[in-house]
Amino acid sequence: MTEFEFQVIKSVGFVTALILAVAIQRFRPHRTLAGSWRANTGLWATNALLLGLVCGGCACAVSLWASRGGVGLLNRGEVPSAVAIALSVIGLDLVSYFWHRANHLVPFLWRFHQAHHSDAQYTVTTALRFHPGELLLALPVRLLAVAALGVPLLGVIVFEVVFAFANFWEHGNIDLSHRVEQGLARVVITPALHRRHHSLETRLLNSNYGTIFSCWDRFFRSFGENRSSTRIETGLPGVGASLGTMAILGLPARGVFRGR
Ligand SMILES: [Zn+2]
Repeated sequence: MTEFEFQVIKSVGFVTALILAVAIQRFRPHRTLAGSWRANTGLWATNALLLGLVCGGCACAVSLWASRGGVGLLNRGEVPSAVAIALSVIGLDLVSYFWHRANHLVPFLWRFHQAHHSDAQYTVTTALRFHPGELLLALPVRLLAVAALGVPLLGVIVFEVVFAFANFWEHGNIDLSHRVEQGLARVVITPALHRRHHSLETRLLNSNYGTIFSCWDRFFRSFGENRSSTRIETGLPGVGASLGTMAILGLPARGVFRGR
């Protein structure tokens, strides 16, 4: 597979994940919200351009390099393809959990990550609201994880698509019945669980760092219960409720904002 084909498959998966999450949000809205889609899509376009220029197909290149050179855990022996893909998704999601936690713990990283938390309108497009600084800092971490685990190319693609859907879905302005929410929360991060992570209150903000699986938060004691019926105000105190793309890009220079 060429890097171009890799990008095409990844993009189709990304768009499908977005459409699916928007459809669920439309049919099961949690509350009436207009969404910050203008600012968020502006930020996404900036990131897509910047990361495309810096290293759009890097994960693909690193995976192929590791596979040819026998680098990484999964390239050490004969691991069945399905097992290697499943372990890749689990391993990369665990790395993402720690990276997200570090973004909250280290003030320098938080300066960039606070851009994501500054959305007072918690909807699917919040999943597009990342500062390019955060994504550029995350890139070597992700690439190192791909190499260390020896993630196969198919593992990279499956992870990217599942991760994209999890990211869109858990940021959705989505209402689920308590029974469904509880059942799903045993395995995956749900919209209510991640909504708690976007709370204005520090006590709630410092919980539920996971993206795909909820087991990491349970195991590393950062899990916090939440249900769809609980109303949570999201955003960051002091940054303004309706920032434009340029204002979000300038947030790291403005200072360090925390929950209340
Ligand atoms: Zn966060």
